[in-house]
Amino acid sequence: MNNDTTNELVAFLKLYYWDDILELANNYPDKDNLIVDYSNIETYNSGNLVPIFKESPATFLEDFNEALRTIDLPVDVDLKSATIRIHNFPGRIPISDIRSEHINKFIAVEGIISQITSVKPKTTMTVHQCMRCECEMEIFQTGTKLIVPQFCDNETCGKKGPFKDLVEKYEFVNTQDVLIQDPPESLKGKTNPDNLKINVEGNLVGKLNAGDRVIFNGIISILPIIGRDGKSTYFEFVLNANSFEKLVDDYEEIEITEEDIQLITECSKDPKIFTKLIQSIAPAIKGHDEIKEALVLQLFGGTSKILNDNTRIRGESHIMLIGDPGVAKSQLLRKMIEFAPRGILASGKGSSIAGLTATATKDESGRWTLQAGALVLADGGIAAIDEMDKMSKEDQSAFHEAMEQQTVTITKAGINTTLRSRCAILGAANPKYGRFDKFEAIMSQLTLPPALMSRFDLIFLMLDIPNEKKDSEISMHILQSHQAGIDRKIIESKMPFSGEIDEIRRTASPEISPELIKKYVAYCRKCVIPRIPDDVIRILQNFYLDMRRSTSNSQDNPVPVTARQLEGLIRLTEASARIRLRQFAEEDDAKRTIRLTLASMDQVYKD
Ligand code: ADP
Ligand code: MG
Repeated sequence: MNNDTTNELVAFLKLYYWDDILELANNYPDKDNLIVDYSNIETYNSGNLVPIFKESPATFLEDFNEALRTIDLPVDVDLKSATIRIHNFPGRIPISDIRSEHINKFIAVEGIISQITSVKPKTTMTVHQCMRCECEMEIFQTGTKLIVPQFCDNETCGKKGPFKDLVEKYEFVNTQDVLIQDPPESLKGKTNPDNLKINVEGNLVGKLNAGDRVIFNGIISILPIIGRDGKSTYFEFVLNANSFEKLVDDYEEIEITEEDIQLITECSKDPKIFTKLIQSIAPAIKGHDEIKEALVLQLFGGTSKILNDNTRIRGESHIMLIGDPGVAKSQLLRKMIEFAPRGILASGKGSSIAGLTATATKDESGRWTLQAGALVLADGGIAAIDEMDKMSKEDQSAFHEAMEQQTVTITKAGINTTLRSRCAILGAANPKYGRFDKFEAIMSQLTLPPALMSRFDLIFLMLDIPNEKKDSEISMHILQSHQAGIDRKIIESKMPFSGEIDEIRRTASPEISPELIKKYVAYCRKCVIPRIPDDVIRILQNFYLDMRRSTSNSQDNPVPVTARQLEGLIRLTEASARIRLRQFAEEDDAKRTIRLTLASMDQVYKD
């Protein structure tokens, strides 16, 4: 090690972190991490540590730890396993931007943990005894493959063994493998998020869980992809984590300026705001205004509450669309996740191994791996689940918990953990025979079990019944959107285009821009917590009692009206008040909720 660098590092640590080092020394080994803010490295001594760090971060970090150990302390302690953790490394890069140029470089990446293994010890040094001369040899294990002694290194012996493994003298480090993926809000329409393997070691293990949002700081290295016939020239990236910073999950990542707040306030006062929002969320889809209105309410959401006995009541409204094929269900789902601050689109058909909730599987080395599914990854946003009727039985049962308690519990062999899934669910499903049979009662054509159905605040049926007027309107709309779509290409090629097409385009473009809607939603969810006053509560209560009365006589009702629906009414009313930036919900908010509930029930409960 270069002496100048060590002296410099010691001076640096003393200057910025003396108090922290004392605290570390006093609490060692309970506390064994020293967090160093990268900005201090940048400012120290006009930044002359930066090039050394950038050039060879691994050596730098080793020297840094060594420097920490050489500092004279007033306490008599050997900080043997104390480690320096770098935080706040600037210039975070997306997973998909990692290139071979980053190998051996220090980087920061942000992601959501999609897989995590149980903690396992890995040996870093093995000890072997030659059974002929009884001498002991140490082998440093740096790779994944165990190195065994070939010859006794005692010169007078030098035999091929045999050797005895002195396991009690091995040195170990705790390890955990983590897989992170792009956070849902950064996908921007991409369906396949990029992944990165993370190697977590030492005192960083056991502190993370699937679904956590984390910034990892560390050095990029590579792992050979081992083919069936030996080694390959292809490698994959792996990040050796030096530190992680857990992100607090709220909507803070969306920046809202004073100007935006002004625009949002104006919107909230606009008497036509609901119509405008309905028009703006999926302008290419004609009709379905009530469904769109419900989706707007889902987007803004109600507020979750913690009761006196610590029970949490969810604020997210779950909505279900059941209908014939080709009525734009999938299209609506796809649109909604664009607006949700964190939206994930998944299919009940379950292409991923993790399913929709979470699963635990064993890997080749016998470690348990916890994999997060869509509902966990969409924590804090909207999970749009298409083809829900094709969902597996395991997913269906896990769904009950995920929808109500908003958690996913995994108890399997070595893993016993609870993941958060605080997302609103927007489901779409086909009826029993793929499409509704008009000779059978609608109720009996819903394929999902009643317990699951009752967890949706609103269920809409989308029937494809031929209707001259509606058909001509929708077909006109679709045809016009197609024409307007071509128009965009003409613009790109700078060809002259007719004013008529321009006119058509305008009718299919949103009144409020998607960017503003996103900010509007983020702002409301963060800053507006409406309450429901007594007179509004009474309106909702009366409606609920009526609903109970009118459905109690039909015995075989697949969607029972339960106390859950009352909570659902409250959530939707709160969402409506939020859009108006109201502190207290008003009568019209309750009326909107009742109108939408009736619209959805009307279809579900009538034969
Ligand atoms: P589903 O998932 O209900 O089977 P899709 O969402 O895949 O149906 O829709 C099929 C196609 O029909 C899409 O291209 C969609 O845009 C179009 N479509 C269906 N209904 C409408 C409508 N009301 N307005 C505009 N387009 C529609
Ligand atoms: Mg579909």
